[in-house]
Amino acid sequence: MVMSLTTPKSAPQRTCIACGARRDKRALIRVEMGPDGVLSIGGSTRQQGRGAYLCPSRACWEKGLKGARLEHSLRTHMTDDNRAALLQYTSTLQESESHGKNNAEQE
Ligand SMILES: [Zn+2]
Repeated sequence: MVMSLTTPKSAPQRTCIACGARRDKRALIRVEMGPDGVLSIGGSTRQQGRGAYLCPSRACWEKGLKGARLEHSLRTHMTDDNRAALLQYTSTLQESESHGKNNAEQE
C-alpha cells in the first residue's frame, strides 16, 4: 500500500503577492499593516490586521514594492517610513531563494 501522495493534514497555503506562487504559509514572509499604521514584517501571525505574503527572496520583495501590489493587498497607502522599513528588510534577503541545501553540483 502506498499512500504517500497525500499528507494527512494539509498545511495552510498562501500566495506570494509578487510572483503568485502558492506555498506553505510558513515558507512565506508575512507583512501586516496594523490598525495603527504600524507595519510588521515576518512577525507572529495575529490574524488581525491585513496581511500579505511574500517569498523570502529579494526578487519578490522588489517586485512587490515596485508597483502598488503590496499597498493593494494591504489596502493601505505606504508612508515613506513604511517603505523604508520594507526596503531595509529587503536588503537582508538573499537575491534568490536557496532551497535549503547549497547546490554543490554546480562548479
Ligand atoms: Zn514570490
